[in-house]
Amino acid sequence: MRNLTERLFGGTCFLCRGAASRVLCAACDADLPRLSALRCPRCALESARGEVCGRCLGERPDYDGTCAALAYEFPGDALVHALKFRGELALAGLLGGLLAKVTRADEVDCVVPVPLSAERLQRRGYNHAAEVARRLARTKLDLELCVRVRDTPPQMELPFAERQRNVRGAFRCTRSAAGRRIAVVDDVMTTGATLNEIASVLKAAGAARVVNWVVARTL
Ligand SMILES: [Zn+2]
Ligand SMILES: [Zn+2]
Repeated sequence: MRNLTERLFGGTCFLCRGAASRVLCAACDADLPRLSALRCPRCALESARGEVCGRCLGERPDYDGTCAALAYEFPGDALVHALKFRGELALAGLLGGLLAKVTRADEVDCVVPVPLSAERLQRRGYNHAAEVARRLARTKLDLELCVRVRDTPPQMELPFAERQRNVRGAFRCTRSAAGRRIAVVDDVMTTGATLNEIASVLKAAGAARVVNWVVARTL
């Protein structure tokens, strides 16, 4: 990874352009908006004593837990954007590494990136979530279990209330997930509507436990 990174970034920090032997220099790395420990274990939003928050108690999501590495704010958002839209694939190593520090690969049986539709995958050439997931548990990566059967308008462009409806029926399991403990990987979690829909599809296919592993959490 290091050699690839040096080739791509020419020894300069991706954020400040100062000298760096990795994607980020030590100062920029230290400034990343890492999340503190006291969060709701189910949705990763702030919670006073690290207990399940009122929102999750009121309406239990279909997923059982969420781990997030960063807050979705500068410069975490810039890194996610560059990976997703500008093809800066070396960032998948950095972001996957950050996520690996807050997740436990031995607690899941398989790792499923949020799928893109075949059409969008072909247009973009890569699935950014899969590129991150690859860095977490390569041997547990499962690109076939869950597929996207239809494209949906980007969630960002929709009011919160419409996001759940927007993704309904967008995903399908290709086989049984009976008894499996599954981590679903994505770049950003905002309302959690997409991840909730995937969790519900995986649970319907028999999954025993579904957790979200996301690079960044909108707070
Ligand atoms: Zn820097
Ligand atoms: Zn919660």
